[in-house]
Parts: sequence; structure tokens; C-alpha cells
Amino acid sequence: MIVTRPFPTPRLDHIDPFLLLDRMGPVTHGPGEAKGAPDHPHRGFETVTYILDGAIEHEDSQGNRGRIGAGDVQWMTAGSGVIHSEMPSEEIRHKGGRLHGFQLWVNLPRRDKMMKPRYQELRASEIPTATSADGRVTVTVIAGESLGTRASIDTRTPIMYLHVRLAAGASFTQAIPATYNAFAFIVSGQAAFGNRLARENDMVLFGRDGDAVTITTESGAELLLIGGVPLDEPVARYGPFVMNSLGEIRQAMIDYQSGRFGEIG
Ligand code: FE
Repeated sequence: MIVTRPFPTPRLDHIDPFLLLDRMGPVTHGPGEAKGAPDHPHRGFETVTYILDGAIEHEDSQGNRGRIGAGDVQWMTAGSGVIHSEMPSEEIRHKGGRLHGFQLWVNLPRRDKMMKPRYQELRASEIPTATSADGRVTVTVIAGESLGTRASIDTRTPIMYLHVRLAAGASFTQAIPATYNAFAFIVSGQAAFGNRLARENDMVLFGRDGDAVTITTESGAELLLIGGVPLDEPVARYGPFVMNSLGEIRQAMIDYQSGRFGEIG
């Protein structure tokens, strides 16, 4: 699997409250080539999986299993802990096929780190979308609000997660509260943020000096616009565990090793 990881990097550990962004593919696997992530734990944060092409199959220690297909979102709140597997669909594993998607890690505030795990799974048809008055901009509203349309996903702290598609010549202004840390990730095409031009796989980090961002494009572009209120809490991270202190990380490892996360049936 080709993975593009805008963060964390050696220079950028996280963008509070976001801990990681991975772009999977786009890649066309041959038969038997596609690899996934077999059983692994998470505690203390949320994983948001958004598939654009192909499908992922998941299974977890709470007895949940399902398929995340093109356009679908799975917002998993790991909370106190789950063990899950995330694999390309059986069809892609055996016959090959195209896979493209994103995974975002959203940190949980101290008060929610040990909450009961929960899932919010939305099919593509259930995710609100909005179109600008001139028809040139379409926004899939995964979290937050855009063009007067509100997301149906419930987030623990205020989060904005928008998939914005701009036709050639389009201009789009999105309100972003000054209290948010926010960034854009270019999925395809080219877009201008003021005089900064960004192209595929570029990440544009916004300063906290305004309450809106305007994006223009000559040839068309597709991008993710992501933001949220920073937690401003200590971040102790070790692989799949993200807590507030080293002691809590040690406890997570003990709990995991002693089977307290359960297992995949
Ligand atoms: Fe995972």
C-alpha cells in the first residue's frame, strides 16, 4: 500500500487536536497484493476512515464488523480501548482492484479518553452534501457545517471535516472559527489560498488570524478541509495509544497485554 502521511513527521508531531493523517493510495492492486492492518489496539482517541475508491472490511473486539465502501465514513471512538482489523475487501485482496482513502486520528480530551467505545458509520448516501449557488463547488460535510448544511456525525469537541470539490474557475469561502487549528490537504488538482499555490498531496496549515478561508482554482481541485478546537492538554503517544501521561500509556500496555481490551471473536 502506498501511504502518504502529511503528519506526524519529524518536524510536525501533531496539529492539536489531530494526531495523524494518512492517505492510502490511490493505488491499483494486483491479485494477492493488497495488505491491510490485522488485529491491533487503539486507546484514547478516534480514527476516522473515509474511503473514496474500493472498500475496507473491519472487525473488532466489540463484535462489530462491516464494510466501508466508496464514499462511506467510519468515525470510531476507541475511547477505553478496542482491538480491530482493517483490511482491503476480500474482493480486492483476491482479485485486485483500486483503493483510495483517508484515515484521520482525532485526539480525545482527558475527560473522554476512557469513554465507552462507539461507532458512527455513514453510508455515502447518508452524508450531507451542499452545493454553492453557482453550482461550481460541492462539499461533503463529514463534520461541522458548510454552505448552510450541518453534518450528522457527532463529535466530542468541535471538529470540521469537509471534502470540497471545486470546478475550474471556482472560488469558495469557508468560515473557520478563530479558535480552530485548521489545514487543507489537496487530493487532486491545484488550488490557491491567497497567493499560496498548492497541488496534490500538499498540506496548507492556516494561521489563527482570521475567521474564514478563501480558496480559488483555475483548473479545478479537490481537497480536504479539516479543523478543530485544540485540546491544549499534554500528549503522550506510543503507537496505537494516545493518552495524557506516560503512566497512562504504561497502564494501556498492561491492560492490552492482560487481555482487558478483549479480542476479536
Ligand atoms: Fe486501526
